[in-house]
Amino acid sequence: MMTVAARGVAAGDAAIDAAQSPERLRITEIFHSLQGEADAVGWPTVFVRLTGCPLRCTWCDTTYSFHGGEWRTIDDVLDEVAGHGARHVCVTGGEPLSQKRCIALLARLCDAGYEVSLETSGAIDVAEVDQRVRKVVDIKAPGSGEVERNLWSNVERLLPHDQVKAVLADRADYDWAVARLREHALDTRCQVLFSPVHGKLAPRQLAEWILADRLPVRMQMQLHKLLWGEEPGH
Ligand code: SF4
Repeated sequence: MMTVAARGVAAGDAAIDAAQSPERLRITEIFHSLQGEADAVGWPTVFVRLTGCPLRCTWCDTTYSFHGGEWRTIDDVLDEVAGHGARHVCVTGGEPLSQKRCIALLARLCDAGYEVSLETSGAIDVAEVDQRVRKVVDIKAPGSGEVERNLWSNVERLLPHDQVKAVLADRADYDWAVARLREHALDTRCQVLFSPVHGKLAPRQLAEWILADRLPVRMQMQLHKLLWGEEPGH
């Protein structure tokens, strides 16, 4: 099911942009699974995982996507996606927007009639993303080690069908996320998702904080981890 990346080949973000032709993207894997997160949770979905990320979140669970991958044309990617026969497609990474051709891929997937979502770190401008795409934009809490990378101008780009996602490691992360929720009135723009870092913050604890504070956020667990743990390809 999983297209395995040629791991271990250095492919920094600058190298990715320099090397790619207008038609090609560096792809780590394409696979069919259930959407584990966000608004489309539970839908059979084809995942297109792009290679490379300029961030290094402490709790990252896709470090294998930082390097390697293989160059593939957008046509080739669309052919493989079609072969899986799903209505939903999620473009993820890594940080998919670190490859500029991701913008074209997203538009082509929308043109082909798929329900398209994009998982992005929140550190790169989303202005050029096709408005048909449901963006899932992270806000990086201090526990990620990447809090300085949040590009707050992205808040202005959020559409009602988008989602903001905060992955929280502890109470300090939670308090930070509540402050940002209020400061930017995030819940007035789109759904706000709070998730616990797997294995670090007890889900029940996070649920109790959300309920006690009457927060206008939606808690989520990672369905694919409940079903398959850390098995690759899901
Ligand atoms: S932005 Fe995503 S892929 Fe990049 S380091 Fe953070 S969690 Fe990992």
